[in-house]
Amino acid sequence: MNKPLIGITCNSLPADGAGLPARTLANTDYITSIVRAGGVPLLLPPVPGDSACIRRQLLSLDGIVLTGGPDINPLLYGEEPLEKLGIVNHERDEYELELVRTAAELHKPLLGICRGAQMLNVAFGGTLHQDIHFSAGAQIKHFQTSAQREALWHTAIIEPASVLAVILGQSTLMVNSYHHQSVKELASGFIVAARAKDNLIEAIERPGDLFVLGIQWHPEILTKDHPVMLNLFQAFIKASLSKG
Ligand code: MN
Repeated sequence: MNKPLIGITCNSLPADGAGLPARTLANTDYITSIVRAGGVPLLLPPVPGDSACIRRQLLSLDGIVLTGGPDINPLLYGEEPLEKLGIVNHERDEYELELVRTAAELHKPLLGICRGAQMLNVAFGGTLHQDIHFSAGAQIKHFQTSAQREALWHTAIIEPASVLAVILGQSTLMVNSYHHQSVKELASGFIVAARAKDNLIEAIERPGDLFVLGIQWHPEILTKDHPVMLNLFQAFIKASLSKG
């Protein structure tokens, strides 16, 4: 059986002014998790504004992982930047917006993680909390401060009528948490697939014949020790094999 080819979005860093040139990087955890789940990883450098290049990248792939990273420019979802907004990478935003929309058009499965989940929501017309403290009732600490990066941190309540519930096979899940933003208004055509106990959205999915799942936590850090987190990648790999 052919293994599916999975594109992994990268972050771009500008030259640092002290001798290091501009670079394009991805966290190794994404790569090892795709391999562990039976996929073949390929890094996707951002090529903002180059529609032909983006389309060609996608045509060669069976599925796309949208990775974590900096904040999404709020102008892209109709808001002015607020005081608690973090670093924004305009080139990466421009690239990933077109990547997501073209991927959907070409019927390529999408797995969004952290910023990637937020990008899915924005690309399909939703909005974000620029900082979760702007969300009424958000009390849980969503940027974990554990000494161990692999530690679990807070509870996620899984929506029973979701693909996520089928993938995980459980109604609650302990997750890690490395975010200060979250989905605010859900994009049309999406459902909430999981929430934290303070009601913050922890996962979204787009019901239909194409696999589109966004997860606010970082399963790629946890696939070695937690089979349920590997299930997420395996379900995505399976969908990528069948192109749906
Ligand atoms: Mn969280």
